[in-house]
Amino acid sequence: MDDSTRRVFTGNLLAFSLGAAPSETPRTRVLPRDGFEPAYLRLERSGRLAERARELYRVFAECRLCPRRCSVNRLKGEKGICQATSRVKVYSHHAHFGEERPLVGRHGSGTIFFSHCNLLCEYCQNWQINHRGDGFYESDERLARRMLDLQSAGCHNINLVTPTHCLPNIVQAVRIAAGRGLRLPLVYNCGGYEPLEIVRLLDGIVDIYMPDFKYTDGRMAALYSSGAQDYPEVASAAIEEMHRQVGELAVDEQGIALRGLIIRHLVLPHDIAGTGKFVKWVAEKLSRNTYVNIMAQYRPEHRARKYPELSRRTTSEEWNQAIAWARQAGLTRLDRL
Ligand code: SF4
Repeated sequence: MDDSTRRVFTGNLLAFSLGAAPSETPRTRVLPRDGFEPAYLRLERSGRLAERARELYRVFAECRLCPRRCSVNRLKGEKGICQATSRVKVYSHHAHFGEERPLVGRHGSGTIFFSHCNLLCEYCQNWQINHRGDGFYESDERLARRMLDLQSAGCHNINLVTPTHCLPNIVQAVRIAAGRGLRLPLVYNCGGYEPLEIVRLLDGIVDIYMPDFKYTDGRMAALYSSGAQDYPEVASAAIEEMHRQVGELAVDEQGIALRGLIIRHLVLPHDIAGTGKFVKWVAEKLSRNTYVNIMAQYRPEHRARKYPELSRRTTSEEWNQAIAWARQAGLTRLDRL
């Protein structure tokens, strides 16, 4: 039995032991690679990508790019909760082989890590980048060159990690890069705390959305993510809109993602993330065939040890229970299962 067969078998065994039906065979939408064109190219040809970039730059003047709605003028150097200015700051860019399988393929996901973050979780695993803001300032022009470098390296996509607070720079850089031959799909790899009006502005720009869904209880979000009490409502509205725009994950003939939605959910100790409610929401509001990555890798980082309930790793029993809940809800496309 190979590794993936063993994991499906184990998942089904767990589901049975908890009274759930075994998983159905996932449906995978396959699109021909030949003739694939990333969404932003069409928008650029119509002139609407330039309009979106201008519109987003105007938002910098009274920043409400995220639900914190700080209303600071980032063009004049004012800083809000995320501490970002109107110049984009990048921590690293490289081919990443640790992402979800349909993003990685043979040559890796072309990942760009942006410095700063709008959620600022107490247990942040990348706190040096997201809280402390480690990284280097870059022009939009330079950011475009980084995208083209990743394409030249053979990466299958441009994976924008924590992008929302620097969206105006990103869209402008995509315009520049598209004019010089960028043809890779964009992956919007975000925390899920995105306002609906901003997600609507991304319609026709982003091919693959990969939001987190971190909590289903606003009290947990308030406590562990810097007062983001409205996280569950904001994230569910944003992800429903993402699903409306791009649908279920579609791949090419080699299994490489071209378009669609992937949701990540980190299992936290003591079910702080509210996993059972999350998987039911996916099945009822989106589709049971939604590609979901239920992640087990939580470890106490940054200020997590201030909270006894977050001071240990997620146990294998907690992760198994999360998978069993997903099976019970009828989810069929669980990453690496
Ligand atoms: S992106 Fe930053 S400055 Fe803008 S509203 Fe969000 S936290 Fe505030």
